[in-house]
Amino acid sequence: GFNCGIVGLPNVGKSTLFNALTKSGIDAENFPFCTIEPNTGIVPMPDPRLDALSEIVNPERVLPTTMEFVDIAGLVEGASKGEGLGNKFLANIRETDAIAHVVRCFDNENVIHVANRVDPAQDIEIINMELALADMDSVDKAIHRLTKIAKGGDKEAQAQKAVLEKIQPHLAEGKPLRSFGLNDDEKKLLRSYNFLTVKPTMYIANVDEDGFEDNPYLDIVRGIAEEEGAIVVPVCNKLEAEIAELDDEERDMFLADLGMEEAGLDRVIRAGYGLLGLQTYFTAGVKEVRAWTVKIGATAPEGAGVIHTDFQRGFIRAEVVSYDDFIEYKGEQGAKEAGKWRLEGKDYILKDGDVVHFRFNV
Ligand code: GDP
Repeated sequence: GFNCGIVGLPNVGKSTLFNALTKSGIDAENFPFCTIEPNTGIVPMPDPRLDALSEIVNPERVLPTTMEFVDIAGLVEGASKGEGLGNKFLANIRETDAIAHVVRCFDNENVIHVANRVDPAQDIEIINMELALADMDSVDKAIHRLTKIAKGGDKEAQAQKAVLEKIQPHLAEGKPLRSFGLNDDEKKLLRSYNFLTVKPTMYIANVDEDGFEDNPYLDIVRGIAEEEGAIVVPVCNKLEAEIAELDDEERDMFLADLGMEEAGLDRVIRAGYGLLGLQTYFTAGVKEVRAWTVKIGATAPEGAGVIHTDFQRGFIRAEVVSYDDFIEYKGEQGAKEAGKWRLEGKDYILKDGDVVHFRFNV
């Protein structure tokens, strides 16, 4: 699956968000294939299409697709120099696909801010600086290592070194690589370094209940995000923690009272999905109707690989019905009769909502 690391300064509301995410998360026992670490929350991706499919198929169980959130507490100023277990946290971030950076955008005298003032721009800069410094460190080491090889005439090493030297000053200013404007060739050359500051990032602006509008802190975060090609999700983490305690019915009423269509957490998950360029396909059998996550542009065998690597290796064909056709013709049989059932080969690019049955050799 795909995962998203939650970072931010102390006391900005990370744990509150993480706890809300884990509480509304799903039962580990439904997911025997994943090991759930204590600092990890597996959160279902809300998708009303699953209900519509289930009404037609009537399966024994329905499983949503998920996104994993990892709580990376303890990233503080000086982390890149190894302060406060800094290196361990940076290593944790390196393993994530995307970053959710929580920024405090609420005033509250009772909640001490680490620097004694609420200042989103400064907070963001501190964290981004640590991440940039960590990348700087990797760049310096890599250049050092590549210098000799490049001198020996190795073209790949020369190309890599040239890009690394190009990005060095940008990182030195504490700016994320996301905002550098790397072209595709450069991205490819740098891929193996797994830099922290190229990871797709969303800022979670943690606002108060009444802080969604006319909030200067929020405006500051939006300005910064725009400059560096990140996105902003305003959420009231405290409220989300309360919502996470409710059952489904109570929650719908609570949200309706607040005039909200969906919980903030759902917006966070959706944003993560968008950030990573993900889409959903479905399998719809009588045993199980289930949603699966793949990258946009994934081929049918790659999609099969999400279910099991054997499915990918032994891939023969995919039987595909689009979601709309599946609903309109009330299932596979109806879609078949209407000529909407397709047999696709290994080059087929999966589309969002495809209802798929894989044929494979074991
Ligand atoms: P962390 O150190 O980043 O994990 O921060 P916590 O989640 O522990 O939050 C620090 C304090 O801020 C706690 O007392 C929370 O109840 C409070 N807090 C978190 N989110 C909000 C919010 O949206 N509004 C207000 N007023 N307080 C919040």
